[in-house]
Amino acid sequence: MAPSTTSSAPPALLQGSGWVDRPAELEPAVSGQVDCDIVVIGGGLGGMLAALRLAEHGRDVVLLEADVCGWGASARNAGYITPTLGSDPRILERFYGDRVRGLYRMANNAVGFTEGLIADHAIDCGYRQTGNIAAAPTAAAFRKLAAKTKNGRRATVGDATALGVPPAFHGGIHIDVGGILNPGELALGVRDLVRASSVRVYEQCPARQVEDRGGSVRVRLDGGQVTAREAILTTNAFSKELAIAPRNLGTPVWVTAIETEPVSAEQLDDAGWTSRTPITTNHLVMQSFRPTLRGTIVTTTRSLQMARHASLDRRPSPNVVDDLVRGLHERLPTLPDLAAARAWGGWIGLTPSNMAVVGRVTPRVHYQLACNGHGLPQAPYLGSLLADHVAAGDGGPMHEDLAAVWRENPRFAPGIVNPLTLKLGWLADRMGDRLDRIRH
Ligand SMILES: Cc1cc2nc3c(=O)[nH]c(=O)nc-3n(C[C@H](O)[C@H](O)[C@H](O)COP(=O)(O)OP(=O)(O)OC[C@H]3O[C@@H](n4cnc5c(N)ncnc54)[C@H](O)[C@@H]3O)c2cc1C
Repeated sequence: MAPSTTSSAPPALLQGSGWVDRPAELEPAVSGQVDCDIVVIGGGLGGMLAALRLAEHGRDVVLLEADVCGWGASARNAGYITPTLGSDPRILERFYGDRVRGLYRMANNAVGFTEGLIADHAIDCGYRQTGNIAAAPTAAAFRKLAAKTKNGRRATVGDATALGVPPAFHGGIHIDVGGILNPGELALGVRDLVRASSVRVYEQCPARQVEDRGGSVRVRLDGGQVTAREAILTTNAFSKELAIAPRNLGTPVWVTAIETEPVSAEQLDDAGWTSRTPITTNHLVMQSFRPTLRGTIVTTTRSLQMARHASLDRRPSPNVVDDLVRGLHERLPTLPDLAAARAWGGWIGLTPSNMAVVGRVTPRVHYQLACNGHGLPQAPYLGSLLADHVAAGDGGPMHEDLAAVWRENPRFAPGIVNPLTLKLGWLADRMGDRLDRIRH
C-alpha cells in the first residue's frame, strides 16, 4: 500500500459518486405512450427493489429514473450497513409511541435483508461484516456512556484502546451487526439485476407530474407519458418536486463525503486504528470514518447543507470539504498532513422524525422515503416490503416491519431542520470538541 503523501493539489470535487464510475451505457427515456400495471418513480435502491419485487409477483412494471438508476444517494453514501436509528429514543417515543420496538426490529431486519440481497445475487461490493463503533464525541460523554451501558450479546462498550480506535475517539459501543461495503458497486450491481429482469427501465426520464385519475395513474414525462394502475414514489430528496407527494415529507439535505489519499497499514496502526472497524460519532450531527479496500479513508457528514430544492448537478463546497479534513485531523492527529484526494456529495430527504416513512397519498399512489442517513439497508428493505403490500392489493396483509413505519395520514408538520438549526448543531458540536481537546 502506498504511504500517504502531502498533496498540494486541491481535492477533485466530483459531481457524481466517488465510489464507482458513472455507467456509460444508459437505458432510453420513454418516448410516446407506455402502459403498465405499476409504475415505480425513482430508481434508487428503494425503487429498484420495489420494482424487482413487483416483477417477482408477476406484475408488469415500469421503472422511471430521472438520471441513472442507483446514481443518487444510493451510490454516494458512506457504505455503512447498520441497524441503528437516526433519532434520540425520546424523540422516537414522541412520534411513534409504543411502535418504537417495531422500528428497532425493522432496522435490524433491514440489515439481514440487504446482506441477503448481496449474498443471494453474489453482488461484488466488498462487503465486510465488521459491525460499527458508535463513538462518544467527548471523554465526558464516554464516561457517562460506560457508566450506564452494559455489554450486550452484540454490543460491547470499551475505551479507544479496547476497541482499537484512535485515542481521540475516547471510546464507545461496538455494535456487532452489519458492516461496510462499496455503495457504488452495490447500487450498480442492483441496477444490473433490474435491467436483467422483466422490469422495463427508463433512464434520464424524470417524472414531471403524477395524477391519480380515479381508474388509473398518469405520469407526464418530457417525451411522453406512462399510464398505470398504480404508482410508487421512491424519489427521496426530490419528492417535493412532485406536487402529488405529501407536503413537508422530507427536507432536501446535502451530505458531503471526502476520500483521502492512500494511508499505509503502519500509519493506521500508529494512529491507533488497529481494529480498522468503521466509526460514527454521536455528535448532534455525526461524522463517519471508515477505511476502504483502496487503502484510503472516507469521512462524511459533520456539516450538512439544506436547500429548497435538490439538484442533480451539485458538487461539494470547498469550505465543507476543508471542515471534513479538519475533523479528520482532529481524530487522527498522527496524520496531520493527510489530504483529501477527492470529494463528492449526495442528497438525503430528512423527515421530521428522522425515520423512514411509507404510506399512501391517494388510493393509487404510494410513497416511500426510507432515507435520512440510514437508508442503505432500509430503503431496499422497505421498497421490497411496500411492493409486497401493493401486490397483495387493497386489504392485503402488511408485513409488521412495514406497519412499523406506515403512515396512515399523509400530512406532515414542517420539519425543524433549517439552515439556522443546522448551523447551531454544527457550532454546538465544535464547541464540545474544542472543550474536550482543551481538557485532554
Ligand atoms: C454522503 C451520504 C452518506 C450516507 N451514508 C449512509 C450510510 O453510511 N448508511 C446508510 O444507511 N445510509 C447512508 N446515507 C443515506 C442513504 O444513502 C439513503 O438513505 C439511501 O440511499 C436512499 O435510497 P433511495 O432509493 O430512497 O434514494 P436515492 O438513492 O436518492 O434514489 C432516489 C432516485 O429517485 C430519482 N428521482 C428523483 N425524482 C425523480 C423523478 N421525478 N422522476 C424519476 N426519478 C426521480 C433520483 O434521480 C434518484 O436516483 C448516506 C447518504 C449520503 C448522501
